[in-house]
Amino acid sequence: MQLSYQQITNLIELTVTTKDDSLGCDGCLELMDQFAQAELDGTTIPRALECVRIHIEQCKCCKDEYVALMIALREVQ
Ligand SMILES: [Zn+2]
Repeated sequence: MQLSYQQITNLIELTVTTKDDSLGCDGCLELMDQFAQAELDGTTIPRALECVRIHIEQCKCCKDEYVALMIALREVQ
């Protein structure tokens, strides 16, 4: 199997981002508003906010927080 340069780059990025949960709960909560808004708007998640998604997937309390925030934001709109 031959991988194109683009596929290899994607794979590397995937590996790097998957491991990168250096955000911590405090950092996650700080960026969560922006992340939720981007999700709500259906815009592409900025690279800077990808770490929020990664953290949420791995951290149950932040995920609960995020779900609650999304519900609240949806009601406002
Ligand atoms: Zn957390």
